[in-house]
Amino acid sequence: MNDAASVRERYEDVLKKIKDAAEKAGRDPDEVTLVAVSKTKPIELMEEAAALGQLDFGENHVQEVVWKQALHPEYRFHMIGHLQTNKVKQVVGKAVLIHSVDSVRLARTISDVSVRKGLVSDVLLEINVASEPQKYGFPPEEAAGAAREIAAFPGIRIRGLMCVAPNSDDPEKNRPYFQKMQHLAVDIGQKNIDNVFMTVLSMGMSKDFAVAVEEGATIVRVGTALFGEREYKGA
Ligand SMILES: *Cc1c(COP(=O)(O)O)cnc(C)c1O
Repeated sequence: MNDAASVRERYEDVLKKIKDAAEKAGRDPDEVTLVAVSKTKPIELMEEAAALGQLDFGENHVQEVVWKQALHPEYRFHMIGHLQTNKVKQVVGKAVLIHSVDSVRLARTISDVSVRKGLVSDVLLEINVASEPQKYGFPPEEAAGAAREIAAFPGIRIRGLMCVAPNSDDPEKNRPYFQKMQHLAVDIGQKNIDNVFMTVLSMGMSKDFAVAVEEGATIVRVGTALFGEREYKGA
């Protein structure tokens, strides 16, 4: 889609690709939730998407969740970016799902803050699936141990796994990573750890969400393909 395409055209195109990918893999397209990544984007663009029925939005800065959520408390905000422990207080209770739990320490803080607020926070464990040095997330081989440790915290509920796959223009290159995520989720699920549910697999972005759906994603996080290029790359 070129930049002049409307949000409606882009949205319908993304939904169609999700549907096609799910059907190709013999999955029900309704199992896949589209999270529209609206980081750095103005509220008007989100309102346009919401008018089309898109209510799940992904943000990676706490401040942006806070001000956007104040304007539209009916939207479902997903925290998808690296979260510092000192910002946890501001996002607990505002985000429906924190995708980016990348340390036991962060999980403990989310739990503590949640307990104080009388909540249980749903989270995903972020996995550094390709072992990229610059990326956040648990090494795949440490994920099960981390899940076991975090599951004991009273204010947190592990719903599944998330990854940011390598940036590549060839989505097929990421297929093995998505398969690895799916296997890891099954492995951890089979350990039957109390308070650990492996029902959510958040993976796939603008360039590779169709392949991620074929490999079992239940959430895809799509920004550029819906809203166009961001001004601050990688922000
Ligand atoms: C920015 C971002 C996305 C969306 O990226 P696009 O390539 O624009 O679709 C998805 N997930 C995370 C964690 C992000 O930071």
